[in-house]
Parts: sequence; structure tokens; C-alpha cells
Amino acid sequence: MIKTKNKTDKWIKLICGASNEDIVAIEDLCAIYTAAGVDYIDVAAEESIVHAAKKGIKWAQKVFKNSPGLMISISDGNDIHFRKAKFDPLKCPPNCPRPCTKVCPTFAIDNSGIKKSKCYGCGRCLNSCPLNLISEYEYNLSKDNLASTLKKIEPDAVEIHTEINRLDSFTKVASILKNSGIKLDKISVSCGLNQTFEKSRKPEYLLKALWERYEILNELNIPLIWQLDGRPMSGDLAPTTSRAAVKLFEKIGSDLPPGLVQLAGGTNAKTHKFLKSDNLPDGIAFGSAARKIMQPLIEFAHKNNKRLYEYPEIMALAIKKAQKFLKPWKSS
Ligand code: SF4
Ligand code: SF4
Repeated sequence: MIKTKNKTDKWIKLICGASNEDIVAIEDLCAIYTAAGVDYIDVAAEESIVHAAKKGIKWAQKVFKNSPGLMISISDGNDIHFRKAKFDPLKCPPNCPRPCTKVCPTFAIDNSGIKKSKCYGCGRCLNSCPLNLISEYEYNLSKDNLASTLKKIEPDAVEIHTEINRLDSFTKVASILKNSGIKLDKISVSCGLNQTFEKSRKPEYLLKALWERYEILNELNIPLIWQLDGRPMSGDLAPTTSRAAVKLFEKIGSDLPPGLVQLAGGTNAKTHKFLKSDNLPDGIAFGSAARKIMQPLIEFAHKNNKRLYEYPEIMALAIKKAQKFLKPWKSS
């Protein structure tokens, strides 16, 4: 059951990552942010990951009585959200100062390369290597059998990652959702601008693409969320990254189809400050920024083969940090 929100609270989603399969970190993140009061948690469409997320949520529910919905991320084609990074450590010069290791928010990179399970494809390391040794590859956990994935997981909600030029494949995914028989509380559509094609660079094309998707989804009669991806998976956590998401919202936010409007892609602690107080979106989704502030604490617990919630004092500190991070969106 989803909690009743304070009327002035904004809708907040934690993004664990469409290709994130670090199940121990996911369990802790879900526990921390459930306790801090998020409304939804978005995870990869894979049973063991959903199981870990549910365990974390359950831990927090005992004390904090918050019940976020569980959303799974799927896509209608090759998508930047569904990737990981790799490099061959044997090619690295021994005296490299290892900028790649320093930029990775999940400590996924060490002398042996990139730990696949800890990489969620944020992209921060991709341009960090002076020798250009790091590349990305597609990693989509739900691609091949969406219908059976939905049946196994039975999520509360689904997020479809789409791109402006993928209307046909979006239609196919919508039809799988329709025929799955799964009762969803919400469908979120995540889309942003794309610099690759002329027709994907302009906000007006994005707006048109979202209205086309509204026409397709409307017959499902499920509440919709429009997730505007300011700078999808850029890997950039700097405060100024927020501006891309804000700019996109200010350009087309008021013309979007019916549904909740949510910002993502480059959202961080500064996003609220950059928005006009009389023109806020219905909600916000946090990924890398929410994870980065917790990662050192989570790593500490995992090095000792424990979950963070097995250290009550540190867990309390983590929850406080998360509450502070989310504060501008609560009763704003
Ligand atoms: S920086 Fe991002 S893309 Fe690179 S290894 Fe770390 S999590 Fe993966
Ligand atoms: S920055 Fe490049 S060369 Fe240096 S350790 Fe990382 S991948 Fe290897």
C-alpha cells in the first residue's frame, strides 16, 4: 500500500539504476531511502534485484511506516540507461594515477578492472582515462522476455525508457504491458533530448513524442508519469548539471500530456534551488546523487560482510543524511 502524501510534499523517487545489480548496496539504499520517505523506488527488472529491494524496504517499514512502491525499468530499444563500462587492466600503464578509480561513485574500479556487479553505467569513468581505454556496452536485464519478467516480478509500476524516434518499439512494449494482465499503479515514461539525431535535439520534438506516447498509453487507464531526462546518464554529478533538467522542464513542463511531471537526469542537491518556487514539477527522481552520499557508509558495512542496518548508529546517520537530501522536496 502506498502511503498518503502530505498535500505539499513532492513525489520523490529513488533510482537504483536500470543496470545496477549490486544487490547488497541496493538492499541498503532501499532501506535508507524508504526510511527517509521516498514514494517510489526504481530498480532493474530482475528477480534477485527486486528481492533485495523488497528486503531493504521491509526493514525500514518496521520502524518508519513508509511504503514506497516498487517500479522496474524497461526500455523499448538500445538505451543509455542500460549499459555498463569496461576496460582491460592489462593495458593500463603501472604508473597511471588512476583517475577512473577516483571518479567512480560506487567504487567499482580497482586494479583488476571494473567489477561488473557494482557498475551501473553512470558514465563518469568513460572520459576519465587519458588513454581512452574505457568503453561502454549494452546491458539490459529485461530485454528478451518482458512478458515473463513482468509476471515473475509483479511490480507496482513500470518505467519505459524511450527515445523520440522509437515510436514503433514503444507501441510494442505498451502492448506487452496491456496483455500482461499485471495490474500497475503507474506507468512512467522516461525520455530526454538526444544529440545524435537532428529530430531529437529540440524540446518541441520531445513534446510531440510524449503526446504520441500518451495517445498509446491512455487506453490502459493507468496513471502516467512523464520523466523528463535533463541529461541522461551523463555521469556528471556537478551542481550545474541540474540546470539541464530544470531548463527542459521550464521549456515544456506546462505543455506535457496529463500525468505527473518528474525531473531526472542530472538531478542533485542543487536542483530545487534552480527551480522557481512558483513553478515546481510534481516530483523528482534521484539516482547518482542520492547514491553517492551513501556509498562510503555502505562500503564500510560491506567490507565487514554486513548490511548497513546491522550498524544502528551508522544507519541512523545515513537516514539523517538522506532526510536532509530530500528535505527541499518535502512540504516545499
Ligand atoms: S564510473 Fe560509472 S560507468 Fe564507470 S565503472 Fe563506475 S559506475 Fe560504472
Ligand atoms: S585511467 Fe585508464 S589507464 Fe589509468 S587505470 Fe584507468 S583505465 Fe587504466
